[in-house]
Amino acid sequence: MTTVLLSGGLSPVGERLDLRCDPATGLIAAAAPALEPIAGETVVDCTGKVLLPGPVEPHAHLDKALSAGRAPNPTGDLPGAITAWRAYRPQLDHADILSRAREAALELVAHGTTTIRSHVDVGDGIGLRGIQAVAQVRDELRAQGLAELQVVALISPPLCGTDGEAMRALLREAMTAGADVVGGCPHIEPDPAEATRELVAIAADLGLPIDLHVDETLDPRILGLRAYAAEVSAAGAAIPGAVAGHCVSLGVQEPEIQAQVAAEVRDAGIAVVTLPQTNLYLQSRDRPVSTPRGLTAVKALMDAGACVCAGADNVRDPFNAVGRSDALETASLLVMAAHLSPAEAWHLCSNAGRQALKLPAVNLAAGDPAEVLAVRGSSLADAIARSSEDRVVVHRGAVVATTTVTTTFQPPAADGSSPPANLSPTLVPAS
Ligand SMILES: [Zn+2]
Repeated sequence: MTTVLLSGGLSPVGERLDLRCDPATGLIAAAAPALEPIAGETVVDCTGKVLLPGPVEPHAHLDKALSAGRAPNPTGDLPGAITAWRAYRPQLDHADILSRAREAALELVAHGTTTIRSHVDVGDGIGLRGIQAVAQVRDELRAQGLAELQVVALISPPLCGTDGEAMRALLREAMTAGADVVGGCPHIEPDPAEATRELVAIAADLGLPIDLHVDETLDPRILGLRAYAAEVSAAGAAIPGAVAGHCVSLGVQEPEIQAQVAAEVRDAGIAVVTLPQTNLYLQSRDRPVSTPRGLTAVKALMDAGACVCAGADNVRDPFNAVGRSDALETASLLVMAAHLSPAEAWHLCSNAGRQALKLPAVNLAAGDPAEVLAVRGSSLADAIARSSEDRVVVHRGAVVATTTVTTTFQPPAADGSSPPANLSPTLVPAS
């Protein structure tokens, strides 16, 4: 395979940058302000584009994606979404989940996200159908060289005691049916602390990573993240990676508590995923005055040195009516709703996600993984603001998606006749 030269582009801070990507190694072979093409090389013109470390989606729900309108959420909040989805999901068959999950994954790839982790429902009314379908999408994406996808088995309650025997057994079955990561939602279990213990014990027993939905509530009395941190710390090396999604209630604690819990999370090695789209959509619907944003304590976690990354979560389903499957949308929301700088926001959407998934960083230097998004803009901040669809996506050193956008301005002629096409997009003062 020939190398790929991303030529004429800009660095995240707006300086000239060329990258040579090598599909044979999957790495960036060279990085410099200007590189001469070598014989036989594929040259991709990146003029007008900024080159960014490729984004990561650490928390998708591909089995639910693109189902908007099928299971209306009457209250618009999390309990309404869960109730609507649980009632609807027995109707889902393999082909339906497969086609929506595939389409949602390809939306992510088209936008530059070539590393994806998806939670997938496991439980009553759905069994292992979701796992099998999304695992098939994972295998297709890998075989085609388009992206890497990890599947999290999101087990439904109840998990504890004799009532939970069936779900505990089903979770273990999911791990042999194609799931890569142990998942669950302790905060909606009858006994959240015990459910956390059960989930950590299963992950430790199987030697698998764990990724839980944690404290997806604004109720400050609920702070299951502490118990999760204690359990993961106790499990030690038996668990090769722990992630906590949402952690909404940490965001409404007093600063001292936020700092203490952030230190516990850091010491446990848990990565926290903040999910602005779904949290802004589902949280706070009963709080019409001084409405909270529903994000976790992003800055307290960053200040403590914990790993914090960001994802887009639900896309056009009962949990979020909108969503573009675009990390630039997530980054933009982090700038506005979490008050991060554009550079901080993109770090959460790219290299922090890679850290959470135990992948090496992409700093656009020789020897780094060649996971790159080239997108129209003059700098990272400009690219986030524009969120242009005009993009080139590189995965493992090869171009895997290209989207071209052309705008044609056509001022109507004074006599009302049809104007000539393809006018220059330059505003000319009327004389
Ligand atoms: Zn989720």
